[in-house]
Amino acid sequence: MTKIYNFSAGPAVLPKPVLERAQAEMLDWHGSGMSVMEMSHRGKEFTSILAKTEADLRKLLDVPKNYKVLFLQGGAIAENAIIPMNLLNGGEADYVVTGAWSKRSVEDANAYGKINLVASSEADGFTNVPAYSTWKLNKNAAYLHICTNETINGVEFDGLPDAGDVPIVADMSSHILSRPIDVTKYGVIYGGAQKNIGPAGLCIVIVREDLLDRASPLTPAVFNWKTQSENQSMINTPPTYSIYIAGLVFEWLLAQGGVSAIEQVNIQKANLLYDYIDSTDFYINNVAVHNRSRMNIPFFLADESLNDAFLKGAEAKGLLQLKGHRMVGGMRASIYNAMPIEGVQALVSYMQEFEKAH
Ligand code: PMP
Repeated sequence: MTKIYNFSAGPAVLPKPVLERAQAEMLDWHGSGMSVMEMSHRGKEFTSILAKTEADLRKLLDVPKNYKVLFLQGGAIAENAIIPMNLLNGGEADYVVTGAWSKRSVEDANAYGKINLVASSEADGFTNVPAYSTWKLNKNAAYLHICTNETINGVEFDGLPDAGDVPIVADMSSHILSRPIDVTKYGVIYGGAQKNIGPAGLCIVIVREDLLDRASPLTPAVFNWKTQSENQSMINTPPTYSIYIAGLVFEWLLAQGGVSAIEQVNIQKANLLYDYIDSTDFYINNVAVHNRSRMNIPFFLADESLNDAFLKGAEAKGLLQLKGHRMVGGMRASIYNAMPIEGVQALVSYMQEFEKAH
């Protein structure tokens, strides 16, 4: 069988040792006689899994004590509405739009209060993060929302703006754990799991404690971060199996040397692909160099009539899910933590071969 490399944007490739361990533990977790899927979320087995998963995530991201970590259902799109429910309470918030996902965040928040669009790169086709000096920030904003890695457009923040006392709320769905971050610079960090963390169905929210008292009284208990944090994310049944797999991914990442070590590999992988794209006119990536995502790399063939042939040839070589998002077109290679460098090498070799043949 051809070796497969899966470049899907999410749900996405997971580390093979994690899947093997899940397989080995599928029917009988640590002598419990049960699959994790069958366990009560309140039983001692699962609560130990949850505690270890949270501890390992805290270790990986160096999360300070005054931040709560929540394991919730609903994904990042649900959080788009849950954020204003928890933080806005009739006030106003600043949003920066750097791609399809932050644009969606504005649409989802609009119903909950006054949403200020303080910067946007839409007119540039979402190919950059507007210079921080041009952002029209409001001192009275309840928070500033950004998406630090745009999965569809392949735009990643380098550094952070100075928002003063306004807490920064960041959607990190598609690059969380790919590089070290300074959690203290954020009020809230959130992300769906199905890219760098684990299976779909789990959303991780890291929230500074002093922000837990601001929810609108209309916020349902399951969506209220304070209520969830006081109940170990168990006001409702949490996505137990997704949490278990996330825990295995965190253990794997720690064994790789943590986020600083994986960052070095991620830089190598991204450079391999961008350097090749930039070396030829055959392929094009339009994103400003300092904002190019290390995780999601969209590219176009100069001659788009070759798109179908490119994808067909890639699939024959086991290079899967390279078709670009329907909003952008072209191609996209998502190269999350679990994508081995051999996968990127195989992709670049194929791109070179395809260029020669056409
Ligand atoms: N934000 C970003 C940056 C994403 O990449 C995605 C999913 N691709 C979402 C939000 C939405 O996530 P979900 O479908 O899990 O709600």
